[in-house]
Amino acid sequence: MSDETIIIGGGPAGAAAAIKLAKQGMPVRLLERKLGPHHKVCGEFISYEAAQYLDELGLDLAALGAEPIRHARFYNGESELIFNLPFTAWSLSRCKLDSALLEQAASAGAKVELGTTVRHLSRAGDEWALLTRNRSSAGQTGTELSANTVFLANGKHELRGWKRRTCAYRHSSNHHNFIGLKMHFSPSALQQVAWPSTVEIHLFKGGYAGLEPIEEGGINLSFLIQQDIYKTCGGHWLGVLDWLRRTSSHMEQRLANLVPRWDEPLAVSGVPYGYIHTPDDSIPGLFPLGDQAAVIPSFAGDGIAIALHTASLATRVHASGGDSKTYQRMAYKDLTPPVRNAELLASVLAHRLGRKAAFICARQWPVLLRAMILRTRVGQY
Ligand SMILES: Cc1cc2nc3c(=O)[nH]c(=O)nc-3n(C[C@H](O)[C@H](O)[C@H](O)COP(=O)(O)OP(=O)(O)OC[C@H]3O[C@@H](n4cnc5c(N)ncnc54)[C@H](O)[C@@H]3O)c2cc1C
Repeated sequence: MSDETIIIGGGPAGAAAAIKLAKQGMPVRLLERKLGPHHKVCGEFISYEAAQYLDELGLDLAALGAEPIRHARFYNGESELIFNLPFTAWSLSRCKLDSALLEQAASAGAKVELGTTVRHLSRAGDEWALLTRNRSSAGQTGTELSANTVFLANGKHELRGWKRRTCAYRHSSNHHNFIGLKMHFSPSALQQVAWPSTVEIHLFKGGYAGLEPIEEGGINLSFLIQQDIYKTCGGHWLGVLDWLRRTSSHMEQRLANLVPRWDEPLAVSGVPYGYIHTPDDSIPGLFPLGDQAAVIPSFAGDGIAIALHTASLATRVHASGGDSKTYQRMAYKDLTPPVRNAELLASVLAHRLGRKAAFICARQWPVLLRAMILRTRVGQY
């Protein structure tokens, strides 16, 4: 068995860890199931903390075409709240961001294997055994790998043979009730003018929608709605879009004349919101990163920052000879406050009166809104 670290998953968590380990001259192999650049359900919001980590990893967001985001507009039905963000954030499609990170990992010296799915992970004595399936133009092959150290960065869903412990869920008991959808649009020239440097969050009964400008003059719409609303809309995209339009006159205006860039939206369900991996669950040689470490409610826009933060922590501990328990203790301490605060905010905003009260408080005491936003962030200010 080699002393190579195996990373499962090439999202921000896995790619950032690969860059960091490779830069320190450590042997690292990253396995990503997709064959090439692809879109993911995401608001495309790169928070200030995430941008700091990306800069440290050598990514130039402006050069990649990212849009700076300095303002936020919140809507609760017809009420509007305009707010300057307490930081500058960025907006870039995940397709571009994730590809740039993987390229950076390969040029730092990591072995990046695309089209390789880890089908099973198990503990065999003192080491990890992985069963993989490789897709290439020559067809499909299976390979068995082993490693002392595995970084688990396969995102929100379970890896076969490796289930999350349900007791680690904190507040969200209804996390399976939501479906997330995303579409890129081309706006009219008039709409483009209305959006510079601004993220919009539209709150409504049964979910929320986020809109923001992305590279090449596009607009990203991502939203989360309860599964039963989705079913009531006939379970198809046009029905849901029509429903969304009717949530407020603001939303109706935003969605008017937008031209979709894809035939179908992207969709995701069963996101384990509120999950925090506890250090009691730690197993030697296994480092859960990103959404495998904690899943923050999406409206907080800090999932990418969590992915990068955990990658940074795990590589630091691993490179200095520390064990996974030490890493998980540190990750748990850092991730619990923002995830709990975002969960708390999500449960307030889920209720009509909660949304109304939150808007009144935010108007009356903007400093409170700022403080609440900062409490949902991972990392230092
Ligand atoms: C609706 C919605 C909106 C969101 N909006 C935002 C936002 O605006 N800003 C923000 O910061 N966060 C947002 N998030 C959260 C963010 O998308 C995630 O937290 C982030 O992608 C986590 O990064 P990751 O690297 O852990 O996982 P991922 O980005 O999911 O990457 C995991 C990778 O592992 C690969 N993989 C999976 N299984 C295997 C396997 N068996 N073998 C090999 N490879 C595998 C996948 O193909 C994938 O590339 C949103 C989430 C949702 C659901």
